[in-house]
Amino acid sequence: MHDARLMIVAGVVCAIGIYASFAIGHHAARANGAARTRWGVVSIIASGSTAWATHFIVLLAFKPGMPAAFEPVLTAISLTCAIVGIGLGVSISIRVRQHWQQFIAGLIVGVGVATLHYVGQAAYLVQGTLSWNLGLVLPSIIVSLPISGAAMMAVGSRDRRIRSAAAPLLLLSIALLHFCGMAAMTLRFDPTKRFPDDAVSPQAITPVVAGVSLALIVLAILGWRFDLAAKARLRQDRRRLRELADVALEGLLICQGDIVVTANDSVELLSGRQPGALSGSFVSSLLPGLDVASLPEREEREINLIGADGQEVPVRVLRREVALGHRIHTVIAVRDQRERLKTEAKMRLLAFTDPLTGLANRTRFFDLLALHTSSRRERDAASAVLMLDLDRFKAVNDTLGHAAGDIILGMVADRLRSTLRGDDVIARLGGDEFAVLQLTTEEADAAAALAERIVRIIEARPFMLDGQAVHLGASVGIAVTPADGDDPAELMRNADLALYAAKADGRGTFRRYDVSLDEKMRERRVIEAGLRLALVEGQLELHYQPLVDAQSGCITSAEALVRWNHPDRGLVPPADFIGVAEETGLIVQLGEWVIRTACAEAATWPEGISVAINLSPAQFRQRSLVPFIVEALRSADLAPGSLELEITEGVLLSDEEGTLETLNELRSLGVHVSMDDFGTGYSSLSYLRKFPFDKIKIDQSFVRQVPHDAESAAIVRAIITMAQCLGMSTTVEGVETVEQFDFSVAAGCDTVQGYLISRPLDCAGLASLIAIRGKAPRPLEAA
Ligand code: C2E
Ligand code: CA
Ligand code: CA
Repeated sequence: MHDARLMIVAGVVCAIGIYASFAIGHHAARANGAARTRWGVVSIIASGSTAWATHFIVLLAFKPGMPAAFEPVLTAISLTCAIVGIGLGVSISIRVRQHWQQFIAGLIVGVGVATLHYVGQAAYLVQGTLSWNLGLVLPSIIVSLPISGAAMMAVGSRDRRIRSAAAPLLLLSIALLHFCGMAAMTLRFDPTKRFPDDAVSPQAITPVVAGVSLALIVLAILGWRFDLAAKARLRQDRRRLRELADVALEGLLICQGDIVVTANDSVELLSGRQPGALSGSFVSSLLPGLDVASLPEREEREINLIGADGQEVPVRVLRREVALGHRIHTVIAVRDQRERLKTEAKMRLLAFTDPLTGLANRTRFFDLLALHTSSRRERDAASAVLMLDLDRFKAVNDTLGHAAGDIILGMVADRLRSTLRGDDVIARLGGDEFAVLQLTTEEADAAAALAERIVRIIEARPFMLDGQAVHLGASVGIAVTPADGDDPAELMRNADLALYAAKADGRGTFRRYDVSLDEKMRERRVIEAGLRLALVEGQLELHYQPLVDAQSGCITSAEALVRWNHPDRGLVPPADFIGVAEETGLIVQLGEWVIRTACAEAATWPEGISVAINLSPAQFRQRSLVPFIVEALRSADLAPGSLELEITEGVLLSDEEGTLETLNELRSLGVHVSMDDFGTGYSSLSYLRKFPFDKIKIDQSFVRQVPHDAESAAIVRAIITMAQCLGMSTTVEGVETVEQFDFSVAAGCDTVQGYLISRPLDCAGLASLIAIRGKAPRPLEAA
């Protein structure tokens, strides 16, 4: 039998005590240093006292139906056990994080409570005998321990609702222990039984229990005040953080656990939520798939935010923990990624397309080719790389300007697009260089057919720019896979080689790659490298071939002919390297060396013998040519009248204005200019009228045929006659026989050059030839 009113008091004291212990405990957790320890101890004492007071109030409420008393030592021990057990358990539970550790702490608390209970029970004395039903005692302990374990786990939970279950669980565990303990006790009245001397009557213990209960109430009020202050502080901190957060451009979510406490304006705007709508919602409702707890601090993560309309917004989130009112909060920064992703996509596009024409660029072309060649291996279908270079485009850029050049490149791109099938890839590699990847070339000559089409479509019609017609041409090089290579770099290189060959073939045409191009290219490279070295190491030398007066046989001049004294190959004739020098541009440097050397050597020759120097078209186009020659003459101290420059028709083909100007400048210096190899090229007679030459050198091919070939003989005679009419002198080149010599003289030419007179000689050879036959009346057999 229990006194109901006292039972209610027991419940109230227990609840107040638990509240006091937790409130003070929380306060201890929020504090630092000595205050933390002090309040921790108070909290532990409070929790032990709660259990003890509850226990004794219940014992006082118990009506055993016989006199009862308390044994003081055991009573004190039961209080100590409660404080130690509960204190140990609670202080462990504050320190540990793992669930199982919290459970163990709960078990320790349970053991404390159980010890308190049964030791307290043992201190309960009645006038009679007391026996225990162990069948109830053991299960009561076994059941209540895990419950108090669970209660401590609940205390440590991040979830508020689970946390609020902690106190009821603890109460349950205590109540279970008590009522089972009471039920397990059987009392039998025995009037003969006497209480020991030190036994304390319930009346005496009541004020102690009341005092402890009162102390608990005081502590509870204190704890409550602490709690209020902490809550006020938390509210203030949150308000301040929210105020700060609203200034941020970035979205900020302030969360506790996985619940949003507050969200700033930016995130409300970004998610399209009403102000305040996010507070109290789960983070996962806004950012599904984001496990707040497992996201490492300061590590950014890409994720999608769900807008109010259900639309996904790509965002980047970052988590930081901050303490607000002593509580750890999580701040999630949310950055809108739409703008960045858009820019990135644009940049990717820019990185792979040529902005001028909108075609693929070199990188993309190469990637696509690589992709294609790697997948082609399985399908084993042929495809082709066509490399295309515009002819005469440089002139457009130079004369009409780069803006016009850009417009024309756009037009070229359009024409190319119109010639191609949809799945072929077309790219601008840079400058006026384009490339096409022809995907399927089932028919044997598909690539050649396409190349021909491309050449035709570029050449067919002029490009119209501001009413001006611009004529362009195209050269195309082809490499077919798998025949001409498997990997993309090799294919591009081979197509490039073929393009090079097409250009060398006179442009406006196409060439397919073949192995011989490789061989040629290799040779060319060897020559180029060797020639560079030759220029530095002085391996070049000049030989001179004399020209004699047709009437007197006197030496009038000598033509400088370059030779390369190669360390391994001996004397290399110019035919083997002039071409490469012209292609690589080395000819300018080489030519300057020739001019300087020939002028210096000619300055040592007897009066009246001039030197003739060959000029390549590339040299002639150099703006610095005239000043260079002036300087060479000056430093060699050679009279301009002792210098003849030989140019071929190639020079005249391009840029007529500039050519005429240079020719006139040279002639006004007093330098003589000869037209070399006349009759071999496209020279029309009109050139001779238009350009002021001093001398025409009739090409060797004509004199080779005379006097037997009547036609050649007629041509030689006609050229000489015409030159005489235009006031130009003539030289017949390549005279090897006396008959040829006689014919030439009879035809009326002024000077003769050829092996019959002399082969080209080195400097010393020429000097001695001049000495022997300076004034010889008739040509001698070649020395
Ligand atoms: P070219 O200007 O027509 O020079 C005449 C070439 O004909 C020389 O050949 C000469 O040795 C050769 N020759 C002269 N008489 C006869 C003959 O009776 N029979 C035969 N079969 N050949 C004869 P070379 O020295 O091999 O020069 C070849 C070409 O190389 C020259 O043709 C010239 O175009 C070019 N060249 C030589 N030196 C230079 C130079 O310093 N600069 C430039 N740009 N070109 C040069
Ligand atoms: Ca010549
Ligand atoms: Ca010649």
